[in-house]
Amino acid sequence: MFAIQVSRPGGPEVLEYVEVNAPTPTDDQVLVAVDVAGVNYIDTYYREGIYHAKTPFVPGFEGTGRVLKDPRGEIAEGTKVAWDQSFGSYAEQVCVDRNRLVAVPDDFSDEVAASMLLQGITAHYLTHGVYQLGEGASCLITAGAGGVGLIATQMAKTLGATVYTVVSSDEKEQLSYDAGADQVFRYSEGLAEEVRRFNGGRGVDVVYDGVGKATFQESLEVVRPRGTVCLFGAASGPVPPVDPQVLNTHGSIFLTRPSIGAWTSQEGEFQMRAQAVVQAVADGHLTFRVAASYPLKDAAQAHRDLQDRKTTGSIVLRVHD
Ligand code: NDP
Repeated sequence: MFAIQVSRPGGPEVLEYVEVNAPTPTDDQVLVAVDVAGVNYIDTYYREGIYHAKTPFVPGFEGTGRVLKDPRGEIAEGTKVAWDQSFGSYAEQVCVDRNRLVAVPDDFSDEVAASMLLQGITAHYLTHGVYQLGEGASCLITAGAGGVGLIATQMAKTLGATVYTVVSSDEKEQLSYDAGADQVFRYSEGLAEEVRRFNGGRGVDVVYDGVGKATFQESLEVVRPRGTVCLFGAASGPVPPVDPQVLNTHGSIFLTRPSIGAWTSQEGEFQMRAQAVVQAVADGHLTFRVAASYPLKDAAQAHRDLQDRKTTGSIVLRVHD
């Protein structure tokens, strides 16, 4: 089969379209023929070697396609599925852990099915788990027009929260407002002060910061006393080590660095969050904006565009062109 393979860590150029052996499922897995794979920022961390995987490896965690083989015979061949947390998804075939699969409703496009789980589940655990938003709560979301950003904004609004976001361009600002943001800001050293001006100087209850290095200081500044700074990513680079004393000086704040793995680790938790996302899409309460779709062999271009901040919403790779 053809797949994207990484033989050494590096820039987008190490994403090579090559022929590799098709994988063989264990009893706990299902073999799937991939139609469309989702592209996520975490894929760039693996490609660069910030997160480690034994080389050579096929990157990618999620996608949609049809079941080719279930060793246990529980899922019929041809069943349309979507999955997350299954390494090796930038490929014609992938082995998916059976507990990381969901059925895809007939009326979902492949693009949405391929990109809804990783970003959707992340936005769900951020807004319903790390800090449970509700009426009267307020949050700041960095990269508000990105994949997670647009979904987290919609979920936060559905929960009744006031949503502030930060973005880097006019186009992204409009998209963030369209997703429901109450006020959209640009990155600046005075960001915290600007946000505080909009909420009576109080500061927000929670910051969802997936940008990392470039925004972390403002995240500490913008949160209210005893609020939560949720550092969930590092699109601008990893945050240097933090002295715990800063949590005191900013008003006994909480700092967490969550992962989707930990937030789907309890019995039934993956399915609970995944089904919440699928249902919200089916009901029309959640809209995934899949702004770009690339042929699988152009995965390097997809990574370039993502890391150059050229993309909005979600992006995907088409396996069959
Ligand atoms: P996005 O679509 O949000 O793309 C990243 C965005 O980050 C860019 O579009 C850009 O938006 C912003 N950004 C700010 N500074 C930089 C920079 N220096 N270089 C590149 N981008 C920058 O990606 P995802 O939705 O896939 O992921 C968003 C974040 O969430 C990532 O950090 C990712 O690692 C994290 N994540 C964490 C998970 C977890 O469980 N912990 C799970 C899923 C994602 P703008 O131009 O507006 O600034």
